[in-house]
Amino acid sequence: MQKKIKGTNDILPGFLGEGVFVSEFWQKIEEEILNIAGLYSYREIRTPIFENTEVFVKGIGDTSDIVTKEMYTFSDRGDRSMTLRPEGTASIVRSYIENSIMKKEPISRFFYGGPMFRAERPQKGRYRQFHQFGVECIGGDSAKYDIEVISLFWILLSRLGLKDMELVINSVGNTQSRAVYLDKLKIYFKDKLDGMCKECKDRYEKNILRMLDCKVDGCQDILNAVPSIIDSLSQESKDFFNGVKDGLENLGIPYIISNRLVRGLDYYTETAFEIIHGGIGAQSTIVGGGRYNDLILQSGGNSVPAVGAAFGIERLLLALLDEGVISPVDNEPFYFIVLLDKEMEADAQKILYDLRLEGIPSTESDGSRNMAKQLKLADKSGARFAVFIGGDEWTASSVMLKDLKTSKQNEISFKDSDPLSVLTSFFKETDK
Ligand code: AMP
Repeated sequence: MQKKIKGTNDILPGFLGEGVFVSEFWQKIEEEILNIAGLYSYREIRTPIFENTEVFVKGIGDTSDIVTKEMYTFSDRGDRSMTLRPEGTASIVRSYIENSIMKKEPISRFFYGGPMFRAERPQKGRYRQFHQFGVECIGGDSAKYDIEVISLFWILLSRLGLKDMELVINSVGNTQSRAVYLDKLKIYFKDKLDGMCKECKDRYEKNILRMLDCKVDGCQDILNAVPSIIDSLSQESKDFFNGVKDGLENLGIPYIISNRLVRGLDYYTETAFEIIHGGIGAQSTIVGGGRYNDLILQSGGNSVPAVGAAFGIERLLLALLDEGVISPVDNEPFYFIVLLDKEMEADAQKILYDLRLEGIPSTESDGSRNMAKQLKLADKSGARFAVFIGGDEWTASSVMLKDLKTSKQNEISFKDSDPLSVLTSFFKETDK
């Protein structure tokens, strides 16, 4: 038997799928994503699923975990190095520059969604193919855009009913003030490294800021006493961070500050933030994002400031299921056609077609003539009413309907009109 690749998932309809991998849940999230994007006037951008490897190496940073350990990189037939996208921002920046979008509008507000690929060790909430929804607000250097992005996710999660969430913010400063901080870290960790994990030792050499993200128990005492980045910030960066805090307070969005929040991507400047959830295990970050004022310049464009964030749909669903606040989009049929009379098959097909033409969700049985069997299938389908086609009532010009919730029968005459008209009127009059 062929098996799916480790860390990937099949997303199946509710009666076949399990946990978060149920397509109706995904549709519900996607529906809310379109709503929130509309509310905030963000427009969709779709970039290719694979890019030249360079796009990600330059964008995400050659010392980041993603680039050093997690990319799905391969050579194509022309021996060019290609990579399946591990995240969205680097590709969007590539597209922004390539399409000269900067010349077309001062502020661009984009949203995107789709599969991302990272060769991580799979566990609950961490997959090799996962699905992100993200936004990028490109062109604005004011903290109000950071607030716009954070609040968009805050409203989205609130509208979905999530309660146990926490916004964590930090500033990683601009390039100059970060350099000062990195020097301080070098001095601080120098004589403590012996007592730290292997990854910390590696990061000390390659990407010292990422040491702050270590989760190993034995390193925590040292990490908790680390000098605060905020103290090293330039006045400009401090003012910017205060602007973000003031903006959040103005909107009444609660937050906590964590000086250890540095995120896994190297391109962040100034604001870094996450929204975390207590109920979903070790992978508790649902949303992650921040400002990236240097990325467009570094990627070959002009100096354009930007801020963005993304969440993983799988992880968001884990949180929503943990709180029991998600129900699938209701796309169950209204009518289920039960055929009582084999000779009426063509009429039934025509009625079914016409109902669908009218926009009334309808389905039918598997063709068996056994009424009990058909009704069982009708129940399973989640339909509201079974429509009996054929039988004595039909001959006497009326259609029998069975309410599949209450089991009540209802006979409606079509003597003065036709079956489609009475079924259409009944659909319109019924509380859905
Ligand atoms: P990042 O792109 O690393 O900033 O991650 C943003 C969000 O994407 C995270 O908060 C998760 O919700 C999600 N995410 C990142 N990596 C994975 C993964 N391997 N599996 C599932 N979700 C992920």
